[in-house]
Amino acid sequence: MTDEITEETVLRHICEGCGKDENLTVAEAFEAGWDYPPRLGVFGVVSPRTCGECGIEKTLWWRIQTGEVRPDDLSSEEMEFIQRVVNEPESILVKEEK
Ligand SMILES: [Zn+2]
Repeated sequence: MTDEITEETVLRHICEGCGKDENLTVAEAFEAGWDYPPRLGVFGVVSPRTCGECGIEKTLWWRIQTGEVRPDDLSSEEMEFIQRVVNEPESILVKEEK
């Protein structure tokens, strides 16, 4: 079972636009403008995953919406992204070392 995700839960945030990779709490990420579940979007559902500085143009979700990428013709990088999203929140949960 999934541990409950709260505002204080630390998740790994990876931006699809610039590749920024930060461990932030749900609250911190929202304040920094990240488009990330659970505040924006839903765990396990492909939608934009971006930081506060990036738009959605580079996200896989957008490129599928616009027909730039076909869902049955994805690169290995895109497949990895989908695997990560499908396995959220476990795949981005940062285990506290303490
Ligand atoms: Zn970014």
